[in-house]
Amino acid sequence: MSKNPFLFNTHDLPRRAGEMREYELTIDEHEALGFEVLAIAADEPIDIDLRIESVAEGVLATASVRTEASGECGRCLDPVFYDVDETFQELYEYVEDPRQARKRNKPGKSGKSGKSGDKRAQKNDEDDLDEDLVRQMEGDLIDLDGPIRDAIILNLPINPLCSADCPGLCPDCGVKWIELPEEHEHAPADIRWAGLENWNTGTPEGGPTGV
Ligand SMILES: [Zn+2]
Ligand SMILES: [Zn+2]
Repeated sequence: MSKNPFLFNTHDLPRRAGEMREYELTIDEHEALGFEVLAIAADEPIDIDLRIESVAEGVLATASVRTEASGECGRCLDPVFYDVDETFQELYEYVEDPRQARKRNKPGKSGKSGKSGDKRAQKNDEDDLDEDLVRQMEGDLIDLDGPIRDAIILNLPINPLCSADCPGLCPDCGVKWIELPEEHEHAPADIRWAGLENWNTGTPEGGPTGV
C-alpha cells in the first residue's frame, strides 16, 4: 500500500480556537495490526468516530476506534475473536515552517507504517515514544496511524484464550481435553507393559544381574 490510510485532512476545520468538526470514518484497507496470535486482519474494517477541535497550539483529535481482532486460542488453537472498542485523544501541533517539521519529525515518518509492520509491538511503542512525544500537523494533514495503532495494540490480550478456563489439548495426542473422556490417558500404562515385555523375553545380558 503506497498511501497511508490513516492520514486525515483537516482542511474543513477553521483554524480558530473553539471550532469543532465530527466525522465517521471507516478504514477498510490497512496492514494487519497486532500479534501473530491475535490481530486486526488487513481487510478488517476499522471504524473511527473522530472529533477534531481547533485549539491554540493546533488540532486536538478525540476518537473512538472499533474493530475486531481475530486469532487463535493459546491453549486449544480454536479461532478466537476479540472486540476492540478503544478511545484516544491526541494533540497535533501547528508547524509554522513545513521544512522545520521535516527536520523535527525524524526521517522515515511517511514510511513508518511499513517499517513498523516488521517489528514487535513493543518496539513500535518505543519508537512512538521517541518520535511522537509531540505530534505535528503535516500541512492540513494529521496522521492517525500512531494513536490508532497504540489504542488497538496496547489493549490486545497477548495470550488470547477461547475461554478463561480453556483446558487446552492433551499433550500426547493433541486432542482437545473437552472432547476426551475424563479418564483419558496414554503414557503410564504403555510404558509399564513395554517394560515387562522386554524383561520377559530378554536375553541373559539384558536380564537383571547380581541376583
Ligand atoms: Zn481454547
Ligand atoms: Zn491424549
